[in-house]
Amino acid sequence: MKVKLPSSRRARPASSSRSSTPRGTGKTRKMLINGSWVPAASGETFPTYNPATGQAICQVASGGRADIHAAVRAAREAFENGPWRRMTPSERGKCLWRLADLLEKHADEFAALESLDNGKPQSVARVADVPLAVDLFRYMAGWATKILGHTIPLSVPYAPGARFHAYTLREPIGVVGQIIPWNFPLLMAAWKLGPALAAGCAVVLKPAEQTPLTAIRLGELIQEAGIPDGVVNIVTGFGETAGAALASHPGIDKIAFTGSTEVGKIIVRAAANDLKKVSLELGGKSPNIICDDADLETAIPGAANAIFFNHGQCCCAGSRLYVQKRHFDKVVEGVAAAAKKIKVGPGHAADTEMGPLVSEEQLSRVLGFLRSGQVEGAETVVGGSRHGDSGYFVKPTVLTNTKPGMKVMDEEIFGPVVCAIPFKDINDVLPVEKANSYGLAAAVWTRDVGRAHRIAAELRAGTVWVNCYNIFDAALPFGGYKQSGWGREMGQEALELYTETKAVCVNI
Ligand code: NAP
Ligand code: MG
Repeated sequence: MKVKLPSSRRARPASSSRSSTPRGTGKTRKMLINGSWVPAASGETFPTYNPATGQAICQVASGGRADIHAAVRAAREAFENGPWRRMTPSERGKCLWRLADLLEKHADEFAALESLDNGKPQSVARVADVPLAVDLFRYMAGWATKILGHTIPLSVPYAPGARFHAYTLREPIGVVGQIIPWNFPLLMAAWKLGPALAAGCAVVLKPAEQTPLTAIRLGELIQEAGIPDGVVNIVTGFGETAGAALASHPGIDKIAFTGSTEVGKIIVRAAANDLKKVSLELGGKSPNIICDDADLETAIPGAANAIFFNHGQCCCAGSRLYVQKRHFDKVVEGVAAAAKKIKVGPGHAADTEMGPLVSEEQLSRVLGFLRSGQVEGAETVVGGSRHGDSGYFVKPTVLTNTKPGMKVMDEEIFGPVVCAIPFKDINDVLPVEKANSYGLAAAVWTRDVGRAHRIAAELRAGTVWVNCYNIFDAALPFGGYKQSGWGREMGQEALELYTETKAVCVNI
């Protein structure tokens, strides 16, 4: 995502200094079930941490099987018998629009809370995560009144002379379980809730254990927006307990998941018991291809942004940087220079451009990849180690001399680490990318329009950016080919994830 900070925003003093803790961090945060804020049935809680310091921010209810069960029951009741079902599409749309307005009104607070819990710079959350979530709710509010069926002329060859009036209805899929990750906690909640609510579904949402705070606060706004009790239930807890109970719950019609490909496969298996519908937005190892005729003035900062935005914790991060040989040294130097210039620090500091990774676990995962790269013969041009000795910071890193078969080249690192690879001919890159088990995103930088479209057609990826990277819009579908997922979020396509088609055939 290309994030331009307005100069006024850069200059704004940090509003979340230690002395002004944002709202939404009360001592113990409860869960939203059937319109009430409740502790876990077990009474258990778990801490959520500030990744810049490793200190606990507050305790959060640790939901388990019993809480998921109560939430699913509430969602079912709200879906079958509650006022949500009887609301007009226009009224549902207005609820979503009000939610967008409320979120916009509290944008500073949400940016501070997201930064505190996730580590990302508050300034970035304020210009990217929060406005994108606001926009998504508004976009989906518009769709509530535009979910259409068709009329279909029939021929029915074995019923000569008979006449039929046939049409389709797009109905809400029912009760939906949604499991989201920690890299864009608020935005992922919006991507999931927006289309489900526009379609008229009821939801049980499980945020990631690392970053539950903005989803909980969003729950308060959901109530304020007038969305009826039980329509959105938010159960905080761990993946192996709350998440697993949700994915296998027989009272759920559909499960929507964003996270690792590994857990995506577990979700599919859990959903197979009762064949509930599944959509998945999973990992990636996305190629970013700079051709010899590219405008390097935009391609070099674009390549740096492709990998370093959100500390590389993006499923679509441009982690394989292919550069045509003529420009290889210049691009590597340019991206390395950009990496060196990035101001790494705590998210609340006004001049921070890159915060810490989300957790100690992610820190050790990424450091493990860096070690394996060194052992397997990769050359570290810049970075390559931890930044400082407290908090979960990693230096933005550029590796060269990387080849398919190395862990750093083949696996999703989910950190600020890019493998730069020279190529002679695009036909050397395309077969390698065809063999990539992922297919979430890709980019190509060239001044030749024909070449851009030819390469875009060849790449097996859900998004192809040309002369840009990380451009997201509520109207633009996003999702993966191959092991990067099933289905598309955002855009009109997202409504397909939350509706069933009913064919009605009337003998007239
Ligand atoms: P993850 O385990 O896939 O977590 C994503 C979500 O799934 C979280 O809400 C998690 O809950 C939940 N979950 C975990 N195990 C589950 C299970 N057995 N059943 C149901 N839900 C379950 O991802 P992670 O462990 O946080 O990160 C590991 C790697 O995943 C990263 O390094 C990265 O490569 C990838 N990842 C990808 C994305 C993406 O956007 N595609 C996002 C995040 C991570 P808890 O968090 O509460 O355990
Ligand atoms: Mg946290």
